[in-house]
Amino acid sequence: MTDVTSTWTEPSNTATALLLLGRGSDPASERGVDCPGDLPAPSDPDLVARATAAKAALGDRVFVLGHHYQRDEVIQFADVTGDSFKLAQQAAARPGAEFIVFCGVHFMAESADILTKPEQKVILPDLAAGCSMADMAVLGQVETAWERFEDLGIAGDVVPVTYMNSSADIKGFVGRNKGVVCTSSNAKRALDWSFEQGSKVFFLPDQHLGRNTAVLEMGFDLDDCVLYDPHKPGGGLTDEQLRSARMILWRGHCSVHGRFTIDSVREVRERVPGVNVLVHPECRHDVVRAADYVGSTEYIIKALDAAPAGSAWAVGTELNLVRRLALAHPDKQIMFLDRTVCYCSTMNRIDLPHLVWALEELVAGRVPNVITVDEDTAHNARVALDQMLALP
Ligand code: SF4
Repeated sequence: MTDVTSTWTEPSNTATALLLLGRGSDPASERGVDCPGDLPAPSDPDLVARATAAKAALGDRVFVLGHHYQRDEVIQFADVTGDSFKLAQQAAARPGAEFIVFCGVHFMAESADILTKPEQKVILPDLAAGCSMADMAVLGQVETAWERFEDLGIAGDVVPVTYMNSSADIKGFVGRNKGVVCTSSNAKRALDWSFEQGSKVFFLPDQHLGRNTAVLEMGFDLDDCVLYDPHKPGGGLTDEQLRSARMILWRGHCSVHGRFTIDSVREVRERVPGVNVLVHPECRHDVVRAADYVGSTEYIIKALDAAPAGSAWAVGTELNLVRRLALAHPDKQIMFLDRTVCYCSTMNRIDLPHLVWALEELVAGRVPNVITVDEDTAHNARVALDQMLALP
C-alpha cells in the first residue's frame, strides 16, 4: 500500500520560505522594489475587487499574461497562462492590446517586447522580477568567451545556442553569430540543426539543459562537454579542452531546479513506493538520470493530465505549479519532489499588490515599468528566434 496522502500539503513555511516569497527585501540594493505611487498593502481586503475593476475599466486595451510558476493570486487575473515562449507568442497574437502586463520575469517581458508591435507597451509589474539564470550570462562575459574562441581559431566551428531563459542581449549576440534560440521542448531539434552548421555548440546559459539534451537525447559522452566558467581566466579551460569539446556549456543554472538532488529522488522513492519521478530538464544531470520522466513545463502538465487516477507523482519543478496541479487532480497523488520549499523567488515578486498597482496606474493614464529592447538588439534577437521557429 502506498503511504501517501491524496491532499496537497504545503511544505513547511519557514523564515526561508518567507524570504523566498519576496517579503524580505532590501530597497537600498534591489532595483524596482520601490514603486512610484502607492503600492497597496498585501493585507488590503479589496485587492481582488480593485484588480477586477481596473482590468474591467481597461477592457481589451490590456492583455494579462501569467507564467505557470506565478502565484495563484495573480494567475486568477491572467488572460492566458503558459511557459515563456508560449506567452511571448500569445502577446504577439494580440496586436490590438495596447498594454501587455507580463506576470513573469524580466527576460520574458523582453521577449514579448521583441515579438510585439512597436506601439504596444510591455509592462512588468515589479522590475525586481529578474531571473537568476538569465543574469548568469552577461553580454560582456559572453563576448570575452567568443574572443577566446576567435583567438584559438575555432569560432568558425562554433554555433551559439541560447535557451529562451536569457536576456535580449544574449539572444541578440546569438542572432549576430548565426545561432539559434531554443526552449526546453525543442532543445534537441536546435542542437541537431546546430551540429549541421558547425562541429561545436556554445550553449547558454543553462549548463543542465545543454548537458542533459546532448548526453541523454543525442548520445554524447559527458567527456564531450566542457564547462566554461566566466569567473575564471579563459573560462577555466585549456586550449586543448576547447579544441576537443563538442559542447561548450556556459556555467549557469536555474536556482529553483538546481536545488533538487539525487537524495530528493532517493528519499521520495523510499517514502512512496511506486512513485513516478517527473522532472524538468533544468535539473542536474544525476537527478534527470534518476528520474522516470523528464520534460518541459508543458510536458509536465500534459503528463499529469494523462496520468491514471490513483497514480503517484513526485514532481521536480516550481512549487506554485506543482501545488496547482495537485489541487487540479485530487484523484492523483501529486507531490513536490523535495521536502523544502522551492518557489522561484523572483517570479514571486509579482504579487497581487504589484498587479493592482500596475493596472490602476494604467487606468490613471500612466504607463509604469515599461520593458523596452533597443531596435538593434531586438532585430538580432528576432533573427535567432526566427531560426528557432524555422527548425525542421
Ligand atoms: S524558475 Fe529558474 S529559470 Fe525560471 S525564472 Fe525562476 S530562476 Fe529563472
